[in-house]
Amino acid sequence: MSDSKIIQTTERGKPSIVQAPEGYSGAGFMTTSLEKAVGLARKNSIWPLPFATSCCGIEFMATMGANYDLARFGMERLSFSPRQSDLLMVMGTIAKKMAPVLKEVYTQMAEPKWVLSVGACASSGGIFDTYSVLQGIDRVIPVDVYVPGCPPRPEQIIDGILKIQELVANEGLRRRYSKEYEETLAKYKID
Ligand code: SF4
Repeated sequence: MSDSKIIQTTERGKPSIVQAPEGYSGAGFMTTSLEKAVGLARKNSIWPLPFATSCCGIEFMATMGANYDLARFGMERLSFSPRQSDLLMVMGTIAKKMAPVLKEVYTQMAEPKWVLSVGACASSGGIFDTYSVLQGIDRVIPVDVYVPGCPPRPEQIIDGILKIQELVANEGLRRRYSKEYEETLAKYKID
């Protein structure tokens, strides 16, 4: 991932990680739609809940460290409280015994919420094609973005987060009330 993807520059040439949404702007003013303004705010204030069960979680710790510095994206505020989080990051092997716990955590998160599946184990069971391991978290909860790798490097985790940010910024305000979304939750038996 190149730096230019992360660091944009403002009109005055100063570095900025936030790109203004589409709209009309002039000297001292800027107008845009409410949807885009809300998308901009949500995108840059994501509160992740790290659900780390094994080695991919260690890679995430590196992503949080000074070298990769996830705080650049407005998300240094990790939360282990589902009700104060909007991005569930699942990192590691999920045993079938753990699946109901994961689903409970997801269910307790307030809308709107997104899910990032980090690594081969969370996405597909990875190398553990055994009776005890869930063969992908999308068997119990809907997933928005998958990050491949065993383990994925911090750059890949950041890339996954950038993709989540794209989804968040462009999500329509009424999507969570749509029939399609209701059907997705019904498929997973989530109220
Ligand atoms: S994908 Fe690889 S590194 Fe990640 S939890 Fe599974 S075995 Fe560990």
